[in-house]
Amino acid sequence: MNPVDYLRISLIDRCNFRCQYCMPEDAELEYILQQQLLSSSELLTLLEEVFIPLGFHRFRLTGGEPLLRPGVVDLVRSIAHLPGTEDLSMTTNGFLLAGMAGDLYQAGLRRINISLDSLDSVTFEQIIGNRGKARWQQVWEGILAAYQVGFNPLKLNVVVIPGINDHEILKLAALTLDRRWHVRFIEFMPIGNGELFQERAWIPSAELRQQIKNHWGLTDQLTGGEVRGAGPADVFQIPGALGTLGFISQMSECFCDRCNRMRLSADGWLRPCLLNETGEIDLKTSLRQGISTTKLRQQVAQLLRLKPEINYKERTSGIANPSGSYHRTMSQIGG
Ligand code: SAM
Ligand code: SF4
Repeated sequence: MNPVDYLRISLIDRCNFRCQYCMPEDAELEYILQQQLLSSSELLTLLEEVFIPLGFHRFRLTGGEPLLRPGVVDLVRSIAHLPGTEDLSMTTNGFLLAGMAGDLYQAGLRRINISLDSLDSVTFEQIIGNRGKARWQQVWEGILAAYQVGFNPLKLNVVVIPGINDHEILKLAALTLDRRWHVRFIEFMPIGNGELFQERAWIPSAELRQQIKNHWGLTDQLTGGEVRGAGPADVFQIPGALGTLGFISQMSECFCDRCNRMRLSADGWLRPCLLNETGEIDLKTSLRQGISTTKLRQQVAQLLRLKPEINYKERTSGIANPSGSYHRTMSQIGG
């Protein structure tokens, strides 16, 4: 077992995109009301008095779209400067990034993942829920701004959906050739839009790797600190490329036994496993009821002890929940 030292923090469940794979297509989502969001000071209290003392030192800010959270730059600054923070990163759709990259960097954010599922603006609009606006260009400008400001590593997340963007694997992989960009191909999971998942299914990372290998060749799997941010990705490189290629294969491989993370939702629920909804704790309500952080620390410590059992682990059915009927969508969990 890896030590559990990594917390993914959802700052907000709202999003300015509606990606096909992340949210159900037509259903109205119920958003968390402002007063039900964990406030910045509640979040900082939990980090300082509960999570950091329990050994969490790496934090990723996510959402919904984290850049929609009012005061996000100040929050980044506060978390980056906590004495126990060793690593702070963010996952964003990049739409607001061009205007914010400099401020986020100044505030202490150094690592960023930007979702970019297509290099073709028409396909991109189709994936993010076409609202008739030229959003691809704005995301691309966000990526360039983050690169210029100095974010390192800069990772691009690609969820591969059969028949939608799988014809672009080589073009997306080519982004790593002459820039220190790290492309991460993610297997499509049945959380968010179960119907689309049933219709399209997913492509195993091994097939994508073979396609890339046939075209350029591929190094052996890289190990160690080639790209900061030890996560579930298997990392490779096109020979001579500046960046790397990562494959996150949660559907075809089981990495539950090396899971090092928990997730905190924007309304303060702590979730020990992405694929298993049992064991969640409502930290915000407890805080607001005046339960001491010492007591909360004991509850989270207990959850840490239970986590190896809660971790999904067995993939006998091939996928964790074939119906895709999780209570929260991926946008509500934070990926
Ligand atoms: N809005 C931000 C973004 O899109 O980068 C952060 C939140 S998003 C939920 C976090 C990550 O989850 C993104 O990289 C997204 O591509 C991924 N994701 C969402 N739904 C997914 C699904 N059904 N299968 C696999 N990855 C998914
Ligand atoms: Fe929004 Fe990110 Fe989900 Fe797309 S993947 S709908 S950008 S939260």
